[in-house]
Amino acid sequence: MSVLEGRCHCGGVTVRLPAEAFGLVACHCGDCQRLHGNFFAMLAVPTDQVEWGGELAPQWYASSAQARRSHCPRCGSRLAKQPADGQRTLVSVGLFERDLPRRIRKQVWTESHPGWYDPPADDPGTAP
Ligand SMILES: [Zn+2]
Ligand SMILES: [Zn+2]
Repeated sequence: MSVLEGRCHCGGVTVRLPAEAFGLVACHCGDCQRLHGNFFAMLAVPTDQVEWGGELAPQWYASSAQARRSHCPRCGSRLAKQPADGQRTLVSVGLFERDLPRRIRKQVWTESHPGWYDPPADDPGTAP
């Protein structure tokens, strides 16, 4: 199976996802703005297909009643968001190589974006 391999900034946390992980999804909500400093671009994967590795374990934080989020305990890189039902994990695309052949597939909370940028255009033509 083809996989995507990513890591946090310090390399303490690594992650492997199936190459067919859905995405990118861009979330413009207030929580993502505050936690990421910008919109959050992520790959959506069934939680049981996310393989965390490396010397450090992601540290999880209950960011709301609906979701928890994780970061590297050493460098602070934002790693993932997980809705409360635990079925899916939304992994930060910033952990992967910059030449990942993806473009934004779906955007959520676009009405919440701050005035200093326009949400990027959707590009539903790229796969997956
Ligand atoms: Zn790190
Ligand atoms: Zn959000």
